[in-house]
Amino acid sequence: MFEQYDSLLDIWKDAGVTDAWLGVWYYGHFPYPWDEFDYWLFQLKEHGFRPHLGSVPFCHGGGSLDPLDSEFPNLPPKHWKTAKRWNGSENWGWSWHSPADVEGAEAIKTLYKRYGAFNYFLDDDFRFSSSPAEIGGCICDECKADFLKTSGLDASRWNETLDDLRNNVDTPLLRAWVDYFCDRLTQCFRTYRDAVPQVDVGIMVMYMGCERGGIRLDDYRDALFRVGEGGFSDSWFESTKFKTIELFSSLFHRRFCDPGRAFSETTVFPERKLSAENMAAKLSVSTISDVRNTCFMSGLRAIPPEYWPILSKRMALEKKFHAKLVGQKLRGPFKHYYGPASRYLGGENAYSLFLALGTPFEVCDEIPKDGWTFLSDPDANEVERGGLSSPGSTLIARVRSSSDRFIEVPEDIDALFKFRRSIVSELQKNSIPYVEEETPIVLAWYPDVKLAYLWNLNNSEIQLHVRAGEKRIATKLEGRGSALIEI
Ligand SMILES: [Zn+2]
Repeated sequence: MFEQYDSLLDIWKDAGVTDAWLGVWYYGHFPYPWDEFDYWLFQLKEHGFRPHLGSVPFCHGGGSLDPLDSEFPNLPPKHWKTAKRWNGSENWGWSWHSPADVEGAEAIKTLYKRYGAFNYFLDDDFRFSSSPAEIGGCICDECKADFLKTSGLDASRWNETLDDLRNNVDTPLLRAWVDYFCDRLTQCFRTYRDAVPQVDVGIMVMYMGCERGGIRLDDYRDALFRVGEGGFSDSWFESTKFKTIELFSSLFHRRFCDPGRAFSETTVFPERKLSAENMAAKLSVSTISDVRNTCFMSGLRAIPPEYWPILSKRMALEKKFHAKLVGQKLRGPFKHYYGPASRYLGGENAYSLFLALGTPFEVCDEIPKDGWTFLSDPDANEVERGGLSSPGSTLIARVRSSSDRFIEVPEDIDALFKFRRSIVSELQKNSIPYVEEETPIVLAWYPDVKLAYLWNLNNSEIQLHVRAGEKRIATKLEGRGSALIEI
């Protein structure tokens, strides 16, 4: 493992890495010889790292971890069962049937006997859907019968349930389906967590992961929690829209976890597909969402050595910034909201681009009384139906309202800056800071400590001005760079 590059552990140490997570159990297999694994753990401790363990509990569909490595077991053992999706496809992973839960718990007991107490992350295949957009679940005979029985439904409702899933409509049957699989996943998590009380089991939630994937976020509030990020390659990460939805996802998940037990999903995969500069830029996501542990990941192959000078420079900078912001609440007139309708229905494309408007925002559990709340489509549709309303905040959505319950603003940067022009006098009147220039910048505001954190979403250096009432502060940001200013 560490032999991929010379002096890899020294490189990590010099870069400021403190902890290392080793993948040990993969969907029914311990793929590495025990003496080899013991040696790696010994080496980590010798080099002064705190070692922890991780698992890929259900499988990522086969072959996705390292298709080039024919030695590595790519599928669960034969006695495990595939999932049958409601769209007719059948695949391995992202779901479980007995005995996956029992064997996963046994693996934790085996590891505890060998190594004593440890922290243990379940990778983000710990879910019931194969993508963040999809409503998960399994329709095999066993799951179908159990769903109908547990939900108190007559068999005659089955086709109706499937129709609701296919049509992606928010009905009691669709909600019952999602709830049923959330219950199963939570139960499985508890089986793992309770296997050995001394082992601290955590969940890694996929990018925009939530109830539709079987992950009832409320059930993991006490757990070690990796917030979901994507953008593992340059082509995936580069667009402004994507950068904002990645930030949106991290902010969303932080609603449900303790910041001290929160870990990032700062990932390059395969190991050179995201540039070191882009990977370093992702650290801003953790700073803004107050995720206090950065966790780099790169599949089964290590992050290339030449990445580390760039990463460690940004690590040091963000550490300095984060120390001044730790525990501070984001404040601002723009409201980040992702309600139950969005979390139950298929589709993960949250309305996120407002985060790039150089205007402060805050994260809300409910639609608040003030400011401007940006709604994702299912929440907007619920407002339109009368199932959700605002106690005062102006609602904005991408879809059209036939009842004037919300304002339609297309999710493109020009339309959004045009909208901001219409409210900028209110920002000024209330001394709310904002970036004057109409270019994609995130401005996170912490009025209690009189600081604002800026993240440049452009790849080029930029000169900008932050306006706050009568104050006008000039500052310069490197491409993808960040800064902390007093305000
Ligand atoms: Zn099934």
